[in-house]
Amino acid sequence: MRAYWLQHNFIEMHSPKLMSAPSESGAELFEVIYFDRKAYLAQSPQFYKQMAMAAGFERVFEIGPVFRADPSFTARHMTEFTGVDMEMSWVESHEDVMGFMERWLQYTYQKVKEVHGDEIKARLGVDITVPEVPFPRVAMRQAQQVLKEKEYVVPPEKKGDIDPGGERVIAQWVKENYNHDFVFLTDWPISVRPFYHMRYADQPEITKSFDLIANGLEITTGAQREHRYDILVKQAQEKGLALEPIQDYLNYFRYGCPPHGGFGFGLSRFLMVLLNLGNIRDTVYLFRGPTRLTP
Ligand code: ATP
Repeated sequence: MRAYWLQHNFIEMHSPKLMSAPSESGAELFEVIYFDRKAYLAQSPQFYKQMAMAAGFERVFEIGPVFRADPSFTARHMTEFTGVDMEMSWVESHEDVMGFMERWLQYTYQKVKEVHGDEIKARLGVDITVPEVPFPRVAMRQAQQVLKEKEYVVPPEKKGDIDPGGERVIAQWVKENYNHDFVFLTDWPISVRPFYHMRYADQPEITKSFDLIANGLEITTGAQREHRYDILVKQAQEKGLALEPIQDYLNYFRYGCPPHGGFGFGLSRFLMVLLNLGNIRDTVYLFRGPTRLTP
């Protein structure tokens, strides 16, 4: 992964994991005591990646720890995991990010196959198959239609979103129709996306965003970001966010910032797909979950 980025003029960054304000919605945030005040553990390097865009670095990536105070007991959630993140400037839309991402992932598969393919086959009985590009793209509107046709009902609290069962139904449909294990689900409604995702000028209810589903499992969220200060502020207010805690972030955009986009990719989710593992615990040396803090 790193090699591909370096070949394409990306700079590796290492951003702080102790922060004074949430990097995302404020949900799933671990608070820590920081001398005489509170700090938070970073839920993603999102704001720092975008700061680098505003500063003119143009292409950055980070591979580092991410913390989520998510009480889920599932086979695909951890409270501490390795996030693989990138951000690139001068994109026209989220399509540029997806186009880059699928080639990066294809390269990663090729390299894993070359270097470790025989051992993975011998130890785990898994054949590494390098995916073809482009990956299919399915807009959320169409995905909802497919779910309806398949008579799959998304739980009501997930309105506008898709739950893991729905992701598997879409993945199966993509396999039958495009014979592909990967699918970009694109164009998500604003209700289920963060304030900094850019919206279509002619469809203000829809964001220029995507998730990558691999073998039925979500492994990435990405988008073109909103880089225009006034619009960003308006979108944050619409989401009911207080501006004061995110003012430092908003300030990055005050004096101009190139149009940019990027993604956040869960390394362990990817390993589950790559190595055909049923549980995220098998992808790490030591697992961290809501009730697991030792050893
Ligand atoms: P989910 O809906 O599965 O909880 P999310 O939408 O909260 O994930 P994002 O905030 O978009 O996830 O994070 C980007 C990526 O990080 C995800 O696509 C996934 O690969 C990974 N990820 C997110 N949360 C976790 C977690 N708790 N444990 C392991 N990986 C995670």
